[in-house]
Amino acid sequence: MSMGTGAQARFDAIREVNTRTPRKFDPPRDAQGRRMRISDYYGINTFDLHKMREKLPKDVYLKLVSTIETGKKLDHEIANSVALAIKEWALARGVTHFCHWFQPQTGSTAEKHDAFLSLDENNRPIEKFSGAQLIQSEPDASSFPSGGMRTTFEARGYTAWDPSSPVFIMEHTNGKTLCIPSVFISYHGDSLDEKTALIKSMEILSQKCCELLHLMGDKGIKRVVPTLGIEQEYFLIDRAFYHLRPDLLMTGRTLIGGQPPKGQQLEDHYFGSIPARVQAFMSEMENELYKLGVPIKTRHNEVAPSQFETAPIFEEANIATDHNQLVMEILRKVAVRHGFAVLLHEKPFSGINGSGKHNNWSMMVAASSQELDGENLLDPGKTPHQNLRFLLLLAGILKGVHKHGGLLRAGIASSGNDHRLGANEAPPAILSVFLGDLLTRILNSIESEDGADQSSEAAVLRLGVSKLPEVMRDNTDRNRTSPLAFTGNKFEFRAVGSSASPAFPMTLLNAAVADGFSELAETLKQKSGGSKATNALVLATIREAIRETKAIRFEGNNYSDDWVKEAETRGLLNLRKTPEALTQLTTDVSRSALSKLQVFSEAELVSRFHVRTERYVKNMLIEIDTLRSMVDTQILPACYAYHGHLAAAVSACNAAGFNAPQAAIANHIGELISRLQERRAALEKAMETETFATEDQKATYLSREVAGLMDDIREACDRLEAVIADDYWPLPKYREMLFLS
Ligand code: ADP
Ligand code: MG
Repeated sequence: MSMGTGAQARFDAIREVNTRTPRKFDPPRDAQGRRMRISDYYGINTFDLHKMREKLPKDVYLKLVSTIETGKKLDHEIANSVALAIKEWALARGVTHFCHWFQPQTGSTAEKHDAFLSLDENNRPIEKFSGAQLIQSEPDASSFPSGGMRTTFEARGYTAWDPSSPVFIMEHTNGKTLCIPSVFISYHGDSLDEKTALIKSMEILSQKCCELLHLMGDKGIKRVVPTLGIEQEYFLIDRAFYHLRPDLLMTGRTLIGGQPPKGQQLEDHYFGSIPARVQAFMSEMENELYKLGVPIKTRHNEVAPSQFETAPIFEEANIATDHNQLVMEILRKVAVRHGFAVLLHEKPFSGINGSGKHNNWSMMVAASSQELDGENLLDPGKTPHQNLRFLLLLAGILKGVHKHGGLLRAGIASSGNDHRLGANEAPPAILSVFLGDLLTRILNSIESEDGADQSSEAAVLRLGVSKLPEVMRDNTDRNRTSPLAFTGNKFEFRAVGSSASPAFPMTLLNAAVADGFSELAETLKQKSGGSKATNALVLATIREAIRETKAIRFEGNNYSDDWVKEAETRGLLNLRKTPEALTQLTTDVSRSALSKLQVFSEAELVSRFHVRTERYVKNMLIEIDTLRSMVDTQILPACYAYHGHLAAAVSACNAAGFNAPQAAIANHIGELISRLQERRAALEKAMETETFATEDQKATYLSREVAGLMDDIREACDRLEAVIADDYWPLPKYREMLFLS
């Protein structure tokens, strides 16, 4: 009797993985062949402001800087000068093509390459790159999601250079391309991408923050930039396994797969020593990012087996967002060279922690456009005045998050993140803010004071506000269960999914906070009648905001069931699934606030709703089709084969007059197979019978009715995996993918 050969490919993969060794790469070397310091080659592939200052005529350089600072359109005259300098630099580095690099609403980036090569009037080849080409390009917009912003007969869209993000060179095996970070807008000027609104939200946040600070006397502050440091979590598995898993290839996560005997319960992976092959991968990945001027700082193992994290030094939010896209791209690219596949999905493995992208966010006084050396406005200061300012800004943040909690939840909604939020490993779908013990005590004491006569600095002193800095520094208490936690001098938005572009969640956070600031400024103006607000007025305003926003503050365990109940009594939203969460984009409150702040017009916002709903539906349908085909063409055939093998053995035993001990297990497997068939049929039925008037009805149906059927199928498959002979099972198992290195 021949045994199963269905596992042959899997066994070959295991053998292949066992022969792998850490890959060596060629780090940048100096003329003497010595390995260069990172600081010597950091940013060689970006044309940043330092290089611009070197290469551009002074007046052009100054005009460019002022364009960047004011966010105005680039003047065509200087564009030619800038384009020339960029071209010379790029050609000297062996670049042949250029592209506008932009971020359509797909979560990733898009690019269309053009050669510098051109023919002059005598038909001779030359390298050409004009100011017009630098500033604008016109890709066919019809293949990018627009959520109804653009009708098919009006397919035109434009990409326009965003000069606040430096151009950079992407290297590939046989060439180099100059990438020009760009925004993407329709013919009528509506934003079609993730970046336009982010830039607008940064602008309005700066404006509203300055306005508020001016009211309390800080007239010197002219511009504020949100800062962003993004921790990126990811899994690495061997490519040989990856290619044998249609679910990973198609959807980024395993749709089936039984639990290994050892998962993460031993807690031995977090901060453990990094495996040699992974270490080699990380060094090369970081090297690529250093060349691109991405300031990668930390690397470590994460909680789950085969899970890792990389994090840069924070930067201005727009650049940090571009850099996070580069991080994701370089992770993918370099992983291939090392025989790995990187999984950026929020939940690649069931029963094992998923991945997030913690967005560390703060606001900084812009000292100059080149260095982030301004004051961190969320760093409690050295003087009572600075501390009062800190508390006022904190009050504004609380107001914004309180008013727009649902909107912020919508900003992180995706089919992938649905598997993570609220699963006792990641923050719940309920948005709340953690401030820590000390700040909570301070806010409580401000709240309980009677506002009447706390007019002097003495009152501020008495509240202990003057002592903020010393205490803050030691105050390292963390609440890792909170979706939005204050961590000493910044907020950490921990609920963002690992595969998401940070642009949308950060746009909404900036806008929500700007709205909070705006409301505070109104209150202060009313109270002070237009003149500089006294400390007493500021304090009274803070007190009102504290009282009003109490519901959003939560210091306890966000994973507990008690919190779910309490949040409900507080009137906080608990939007478990993406379709529910996305409805928050189109509420009256969201629409009117975002259009008033000029971050999204109502039409742009509605289009975000459509694009995201559509993406959810598409992702779900891809998962469903993948699951169907895996069950039909891999799992059931493997089960039939092994079942047939047992049946043949049983009948041979019977014929020979022996007992047939295989009979019991054959019966058991038969029952499990029937169960899988029933569930498979139920899914088929669920997908056949329904038609929907709108995409969001379909999304809701898929999330409520079909997601559960997929889980049922998975359960049946996983039980079979546990009893089918190993050499019949075609799919790499969790223990193999997660523990072989
Ligand atoms: P951890 O959260 O593990 O303690 P850190 O606090 O050092 O780590 O930083 C996590 C991320 O937060 C890093 O990317 C860091 O650069 C970033 N970060 C630190 N300060 C700020 C800030 N003022 N604004 C935005 N991000 C910041
Ligand atoms: Mg952190």
